[in-house]
Amino acid sequence: MTARIIDGKAIAAALRETIATRIAALPYRPGLAVILVGEDAASTVYVRNKDRAAKAAGLNASTIRLPAETSPASLLATIQSLNDDPDIDGILVQLPLPPHIATDVIIRAIDPAKDVDGFHPDNVAALALGAPSLVPCTPSGVMHLLHAAGTNISGARAVVLGRSNIVGRPMAALLLAADATTTIAHSRTANLPDECRRADILIAAVGRANMVTADWINPGATIIDVGINRTPDGTLTGDVDFAAALPIAGAITPVPGGVGPMTIACLLDNTLLAAGRRRGSKAGGSSSGAIPAMKSIAGTFGSSAPEPR
Ligand code: NDP
Repeated sequence: MTARIIDGKAIAAALRETIATRIAALPYRPGLAVILVGEDAASTVYVRNKDRAAKAAGLNASTIRLPAETSPASLLATIQSLNDDPDIDGILVQLPLPPHIATDVIIRAIDPAKDVDGFHPDNVAALALGAPSLVPCTPSGVMHLLHAAGTNISGARAVVLGRSNIVGRPMAALLLAADATTTIAHSRTANLPDECRRADILIAAVGRANMVTADWINPGATIIDVGINRTPDGTLTGDVDFAAALPIAGAITPVPGGVGPMTIACLLDNTLLAAGRRRGSKAGGSSSGAIPAMKSIAGTFGSSAPEPR
């Protein structure tokens, strides 16, 4: 058996097209403001990619570039002005911030209704309570991939490898909300291979190249590799030994071309959702739209289906 490859590039492209179509039908252009403090090379590339994708989808996107020595007060003032700006629907502060700025203070300053990264404590709490509002983009992208791949989530045993606030924890909350029997594994987990071998769905979000080897994989499992690691020869690789997993897994995402493209697509999706909610436009409802209770989430992420989402 050879695993089906889940083509994140194609799935993300379809989602972006759907989003663009919806934006084109709106009586307004949703506004997205991305703040970049300093000149971290990777962040600069990420921000440029987000800006390009947002503009291509028809969003009114702008990037605010601030010098690395920007004071916390000045950054807070910038966020406040965006919070107050009726044309801005989404605000994203690119992380990491320079060390003299407390990230949690900055995240808390963003209006939760415009928090398209889904990192504000109000949005984190909503997700933990099973009533997600704006959900972090990478785990949201993983849910899209699972649905696009036709994975049975309800009742499945899911293992999330990694417990960061950006990926692992929200990922586990979404899987739980979609009725998976969910385990979170991390650096202190006893016998990681055993835990992983029990997984029908394995999400690897660790940041260690090729850590998940063939003997960690339950035959037929769906494997989503969130990891992005640069090898000594400069190529990118995931947390899963892709070649070794291929003959064992049922379906698997490649790196690159799996989760990565979904993250930006879900940022656009969140902006559309935030705009629809703020401006009260039905057309602005997005894939994650109006989720009243935990139960409804499972049906929420099949959103590559064009209408209604
Ligand atoms: P973090 O470093 O914040 O978290 C890594 C997690 O992995 C931690 O919970 C840590 O456990 C766990 N871990 C580390 N080493 C081991 C080990 N040897 N065994 C078991 N668990 C371990 O990383 P992120 O969550 O931010 O990112 C994870 C990966 O995903 C990275 O490669 C990152 O580049 C990638 N990523 C990809 C994105 C995309 O768009 N495709 C977006 C975001 C991230 P503990 O908590 O115990 O320390």
